[in-house]
Amino acid sequence: MNASLPFSVKIVPVTPFQQNCSIVRAVSGKAAVVDPGGEPDKIVKAAAEMDAAIEQIWMTHGHLDHAGAAEEIKRRTKAPIIGPQKEEVFWLNQIRSSWRQFGIEDGEDCTPDRWLEDGDELELDGIKFGVVYTPGHTPGHVVIFNRDAKIAFVGDVLFAGSIGRTDFPRGDHPTLIRSITEKLWPLGDDMRFVPGHGPMSTFGQERRTNPFVADRLTGYAGAAKGAADDMAQRLSKRWQ
Ligand SMILES: [Zn+2]
Repeated sequence: MNASLPFSVKIVPVTPFQQNCSIVRAVSGKAAVVDPGGEPDKIVKAAAEMDAAIEQIWMTHGHLDHAGAAEEIKRRTKAPIIGPQKEEVFWLNQIRSSWRQFGIEDGEDCTPDRWLEDGDELELDGIKFGVVYTPGHTPGHVVIFNRDAKIAFVGDVLFAGSIGRTDFPRGDHPTLIRSITEKLWPLGDDMRFVPGHGPMSTFGQERRTNPFVADRLTGYAGAAKGAADDMAQRLSKRWQ
């Protein structure tokens, strides 16, 4: 993605949901895979093509399209599954049944080796990644970021021009807005992010133009609050 980074990132869209699985590869070749939602063959092949050895599996949340291949990647690589936050258990326990509703049989429930909490730190070959707890889309969602490289893996919290759905069980719209404004925006306007679906963007771009969380809607950083209410309940129809 950027030759000056201490690591490279390859985005591998998987499953009919086109979920952005990311492979984070340190210069040494040691790698973490973020949100292996399905198509384990495709993920493992992409890692091999970039000469990456998957040593960790990082998870933002427990939805089927983000976590469906985590156990299979673990079996193939021996990498531990790290995250999300423990409130996500009920989602992790219905991955298989959720995939079956779409006629896909190889999604698997997932049992993480380690839960994540706000302020935790991950390390990949000496490179530190931060963790913020960002409930709202799901109750145990986390975002993983690298401050120096200015890149964040935000799952289904935020998209280029949209935000995550909150009409699932234990989803909550005001909580999601707070997670975005109180946990993501302070990481900096120049922080780029890989969303769970669709193209990358930056937090600054979304503060200016996102129709759900632009500053003029949230009042963030003292911006005059405008037409927030009628926008507040607009929800995407996708599984995000
Ligand atoms: Zn989701």
